[in-house]
Amino acid sequence: RVESLQRYVDQPATTTDGLTVTLRANIGLRSDVEIAVRNGAEGVGLYRTELPYMAQSSFPDREAQYEIYRHVVEGFRNYEVTIRTLDIGGDKPLSYFDTPREDNPFLGWRSIRVSLDNLDIFRTQIEAILMAATHGNVKLMFPMVTNIDEIVQAKSIVNEARKSLTQEGWDIPDVPIGMMIETPSSVIMADLFAREVDFFSLGTNDLVQYLLAADRGNTKISNYYQSLHPAVLKAIATVVDVAQRHKIPVSICGEMVGDPRSLGILVGLGLREFSVSSPLILSLKAMLVEQSAKKLKKLAKDCLKCSTTAEIKALTEKTLGAI
Ligand code: PEP
Ligand code: MG
Repeated sequence: RVESLQRYVDQPATTTDGLTVTLRANIGLRSDVEIAVRNGAEGVGLYRTELPYMAQSSFPDREAQYEIYRHVVEGFRNYEVTIRTLDIGGDKPLSYFDTPREDNPFLGWRSIRVSLDNLDIFRTQIEAILMAATHGNVKLMFPMVTNIDEIVQAKSIVNEARKSLTQEGWDIPDVPIGMMIETPSSVIMADLFAREVDFFSLGTNDLVQYLLAADRGNTKISNYYQSLHPAVLKAIATVVDVAQRHKIPVSICGEMVGDPRSLGILVGLGLREFSVSSPLILSLKAMLVEQSAKKLKKLAKDCLKCSTTAEIKALTEKTLGAI
């Protein structure tokens, strides 16, 4: 099976009626670069920078971060690499960083909130990312945004970082700045956020947990954690619509993309850029090249009329068959 999938490595992910989508990789550690390239990833849609931080025993300094990011960027020469700033807290602790004990860590001090409360750490990381941008095609992305103020403040830190690097003699290229859409407020206010950023990336792992009030890691209530819940599909459709109206790119990088049937619905909803764990790329391509975009569009439209997850699943299985 693996060998037969290998023939898709250099082929585009094009449907039977000529729609081509982009499949990028979600990566974290250095070793992920080679795995992504081997699986035909067309760049990186989500680089989780907290993973290299978690693999160290103290905060890497600017030069060390620059070296790590540069390795990733150079691994993808002509493709874009979207680097996400530190997303610690919640399910991702940093052993050498003092984090408070919280009753609700996923609703607590995590992600961009930690960065904005530790400006030295944030600035250092942003400078390292901008420095790596001199070696390829880099996009910079902020996680778990809930307020416009956070984006405004983060962008001003990027500008300061750019100025200070220029004074040091660096010639930093333009770097698009985007945000994860993974909180309900960012979906509801997507039109306002679209004025502030260059691109969106839907993070459905968190978006599903926050929309449905179902902890993504709690097996006791995993039956409530439904990626194909009608509310989730409606939220995604809203964000795609806003992005199209504002003419900004929107991609999706949650684990649900790795399920071929979900991918079918997402293409039908209008998404064209996907990022998944590398080992899934080829089998997703194999599925897509056998489907027509027209059929997927009709499927998505019908799914949006369903009132339960079970109906959505049944309809999708009926349309796409056993995958
Ligand atoms: C997400 O929340 O969907 C996401 C891609 O980010 P992470 O899994 O790192 O929280
Ligand atoms: Mg997330």
